[in-house]
Amino acid sequence: MEYNGGSNGDKGERLSADAEFRGAGDGKRDGLLAGAAGSDEKRLSADAIGGKGASIGAEGGKRDGISSDAAGSGEKNGARGGRKINRSTYAGEPVSVKHVDDYDRAKILRALTAADAECGIFEGTLSGKKIVIKPNLVAKRSPESAATAHPAVVAAVIEWLRARGADNITLAESPGGVYNAARLRGIYAATGMQALADEYGVKLNYDCTFRETTAPDGTRCRLFDIIAPILDADVIIDVCKLKTHALTGMSAAVKNMFGTIPGIVKFEMHSRYPDYGNFAEMLVDLCQLLADRCEFVSVTDGIVAMEGNGPTAGDPRPLGVMLVSRNPFVSDAAAAHLIGRDKKIATVEFAAGRGISPESFDGVNVVGEKLEPVELAMPDSVEKNGIEIMRNLFGGKIYDMFRPYPVIGYADCVGCGECAASCPQHTITMTPPSEAGFAARRASAHRVPVIDRESCIRCFCCQELCPHGVVKIKKNPITRILS
Ligand code: SF4
Ligand code: SF4
Repeated sequence: MEYNGGSNGDKGERLSADAEFRGAGDGKRDGLLAGAAGSDEKRLSADAIGGKGASIGAEGGKRDGISSDAAGSGEKNGARGGRKINRSTYAGEPVSVKHVDDYDRAKILRALTAADAECGIFEGTLSGKKIVIKPNLVAKRSPESAATAHPAVVAAVIEWLRARGADNITLAESPGGVYNAARLRGIYAATGMQALADEYGVKLNYDCTFRETTAPDGTRCRLFDIIAPILDADVIIDVCKLKTHALTGMSAAVKNMFGTIPGIVKFEMHSRYPDYGNFAEMLVDLCQLLADRCEFVSVTDGIVAMEGNGPTAGDPRPLGVMLVSRNPFVSDAAAAHLIGRDKKIATVEFAAGRGISPESFDGVNVVGEKLEPVELAMPDSVEKNGIEIMRNLFGGKIYDMFRPYPVIGYADCVGCGECAASCPQHTITMTPPSEAGFAARRASAHRVPVIDRESCIRCFCCQELCPHGVVKIKKNPITRILS
């Protein structure tokens, strides 16, 4: 596996020996959890979480009030009565591979219908079930940028679901940055989802509440804040975009579920798991929790993927492939193979280690058409073997000096401050140009971001969320040679 992070020298292979569970030794939450004993899903009051609640309230998202029902609801893990992951068969779930060469809705619908026939995707009628489509809408980007799920794919998914009786469909996403109605409105409009909702009469989610839920099988994290519509769903349709990703190497079905964590709580998760391996393990915990609690289907849009500096600043790369499966981990194993990253994506390796995905692509049950691997350009942040050798030789501090880091292109920076607002470490300060060094002084008349490299954890949220693509990843020259 390749690791970008690792300031603490921790290896992703270590699955659970010293996992830090929220609720099991996390001082910040112990008080809250004392009252939560015996219940898997809790609704907490904003007051109870003090400063964090205040800041969450400021972005519009809020926790529901404490409910005594939650304690005695009898819902196992808040589950919606869907199938449970059966470990003896789950890794063998098929993944349907379909070649689709453009965003013609009819072609995509044919591919989805064939996948259902080949893989037995749905259990009976969808009538009366609360269905939530969770598209990847990471940022305000047009469909042509390949940063977000394409509206033609979402449209075909809606038609596919309706053909199976669906009469209650909601689109829900917590994009990067704050989670409130105003931000959702802008994201829905820019990504083409508002137009789809108008055309098909499906609901767009504006409920910005969230609840705490336990992940009983979690090995790195067992307590998650998750947005309400996802927790209330009977069926989750994970509509992801296949992309390279600055932190995780690949973004597909598993990474897309990070968008079920509300707004700025995502930043908290980056801070909590600064090491890439730990972060990837947490993502597997989260996706396993969601896939286990209700019917779950992943649809991976690789018709036009993103390569290079994903998830938002890369380049579109037509691959002409769609993947459909009930098992997002198997789907991602196939996706990693497709982009030439076998054994290099930590989420795929963790899932294999848990037995919820085959150990290698050879064990993936592919149905439909053949997968022809292609090589995608990787993000500048992804380190190759040489830098890993350096990590092993010199340890944390020296290794940190050689890791790729974010830099600001002051010439094009508009001073909007989104990068500073999205930094989980609060290590970016908006500074007058006169105090920000020569490059900034020469290029800007407005305040510009200055990064304190000492406290930067290389999560690359600033790059992901800069609306102007101004944050670049810089490699140390030695790293460049070793890569
Ligand atoms: S988000 Fe981008 S444009 Fe805005 S201040 Fe940061 S670097 Fe500049
Ligand atoms: S400066 Fe950028 S990469 Fe560093 S911690 Fe902040 S958001 Fe993450």
